[in-house]
Amino acid sequence: MTRGQQLMTGPKLEATLFEAVVQYVSEGIVLASLDTADDAPASPRITYANLAFTRLTGYAPEEVRAAGFDVLLCPQSDPRLVSRLHGTIQESRPFVTETVIRRKDGGEVLIEWVVTGVLGESGAPTHLVCMLRDATEQRRVERAVQRSQHDPLTGLPNRTLFVKRLARAIDRVDKSPGFEFAILFIDLDRFKSVNDTLGHLAGDQLLVAAAHAIESCLRPGDTLSRLGGDEFALRLEGIRGAGDASAVAERILERLATPFDLGGHEVATGVSIGIALSETGYRQPDDVLRDADTALYRAKAMGRGRFEMFDTALHSRAVAMLRLEQELRRAIEQDEFWVYYQPIVRLETGRIIAFEALVRWVHPERGIIKPAEFVGAAEEMGFITQIDRKVLWEVCRQVGIWQRELTDSATRLHAHVNLSTRTLTSPLFVEELKEIMETSGLNPGSLRIELPEGVLADAGGELLEVPHRLADIGVQLCIDNFGTGSSSLVALQRPPIRFIKVDRFLVTKIGLQPGRAEFVGTVIALGMNLGLEVIAEGVESEFQRTQLLALRCRYGQGDLFSRPLPPEAAAALLRSGREQAQRLPVTKKEDDS
Ligand code: C2E
Ligand code: MG
Repeated sequence: MTRGQQLMTGPKLEATLFEAVVQYVSEGIVLASLDTADDAPASPRITYANLAFTRLTGYAPEEVRAAGFDVLLCPQSDPRLVSRLHGTIQESRPFVTETVIRRKDGGEVLIEWVVTGVLGESGAPTHLVCMLRDATEQRRVERAVQRSQHDPLTGLPNRTLFVKRLARAIDRVDKSPGFEFAILFIDLDRFKSVNDTLGHLAGDQLLVAAAHAIESCLRPGDTLSRLGGDEFALRLEGIRGAGDASAVAERILERLATPFDLGGHEVATGVSIGIALSETGYRQPDDVLRDADTALYRAKAMGRGRFEMFDTALHSRAVAMLRLEQELRRAIEQDEFWVYYQPIVRLETGRIIAFEALVRWVHPERGIIKPAEFVGAAEEMGFITQIDRKVLWEVCRQVGIWQRELTDSATRLHAHVNLSTRTLTSPLFVEELKEIMETSGLNPGSLRIELPEGVLADAGGELLEVPHRLADIGVQLCIDNFGTGSSSLVALQRPPIRFIKVDRFLVTKIGLQPGRAEFVGTVIALGMNLGLEVIAEGVESEFQRTQLLALRCRYGQGDLFSRPLPPEAAAALLRSGREQAQRLPVTKKEDDS
């Protein structure tokens, strides 16, 4: 202690310490006395301001002492600030507000105020203690967070916020017995065509209009989010079972079936909805989203404009699809796809003119798996192109060898290959096909690509080009499963279509159902009148063979001649056929091209 300094004790010491603390805290602190003598509540008069106040406002304490708060106000300030201060200080709890003030240098700053009234001896408030804090940064951060969690177009919560809230709902199911929620995935059925035909602006308008329309079907507390594109997700809380969720879904379906007016265009988009319920017992948001998506996918597959609820059957299917996807991926890597060959023969002589390549999955545990179990899924998952390419390479190589080594004339044996339209329209397919033909040495005229009936009739875009490009390199087309779907007769006459295959289900019924043979006869005659060669599929009996011959069908394929065979067995069949042919006197020249 130096000379001149006095020893302080008791309340005086406390007051000094208190003032030191107030002077140096980071928040601006202002004491103001209330002057309520006038009728109108006057601006409180500042009696004390600390250092932080000076940093915030630019005013030294002596510059504002005795001044009213008006000195800080500007046009952007809350005009009701003073009256609100007067109004709320009566209450015993602090009054919190936010308003812009003007600094001494003219700059404006957003300030958060926490104001407490101090009561005088009479019990009436006489003073205010105001704590002031710069809220600019905090609001900027809050706005950035708000932007990052909302969709700018519709203003709805986005996927990030939706998942966060979904996690909270899952948590709540655990903690509050009886609490249930449902998640609805909503997808606009015709959004893409609106976007493509009327443009992106109309697409955006449609999204906003649809968001409003969905919101109009909700109860307070339900929350809608936009997950992206034309996909919305809805969280329903406090529901009672599947019935409540279905009722909301019905309302949305009905509302969204009504057309919107988009700049003079009437557009009815329609929606499909997939629902997942908390009663399934979810632990993770991702699982809920996955199941709602699966249900949505099913609603779309069932014809759109409807809702589907995720249930155990869907769950098992989803699990099976997931497993299949992983297994297919592995099977492609491990090269587990083998080609089997089923002969196509002249019905009259049984002579093999071609082989149809039929893929088999040789599974390490499950053995040989037929295409019906995986081709559809492989198409859906986008693996089919890899499988088809592998089959194509192998068939061309193998048939090339048989042509050179086992048949009398290199042009006699043909290869039929089934290709998905995904493969045909994949980029560089025709280029790769050329490369395959060159590498395998197979004459392009020996390859026939089988396409199901209807594919070319419905074809648009890229697929329309493919037949021309195949014709350019000499590859032929064969229309598969003919007689079951729709074909454009005009399209059928275009090269390189040379063959049709009468569907197995028509052939099988010859002799079993009255009138079947006549029907097959009409199909055969139609093909022949169009100048096409006709192959009957699924010939299983001698009776069918003779009936088909009587109907002037020249070629056939089916278990009567041989089931699909692995390559060694197919080669043996070719060899034995050749030996037989060498032994038999040739009665008639065969034209098997
Ligand atoms: P598809 O092109 O109509 O092939 C004929 C199917 O009928 C084959 O079934 C064949 O084994 C079967 N079949 C032939 N004759 C008879 C018969 O007399 N009786 C009976 N009950 N069945 C007979 P598979 O091999 O199971 O092939 C099914 C389908 O899978 C094929 O139908 C084809 O659309 C598709 N597929 C096969 N291989 C491939 C491939 O490499 N790529 C693609 N994308 N699809 C393929
Ligand atoms: Mg086929």
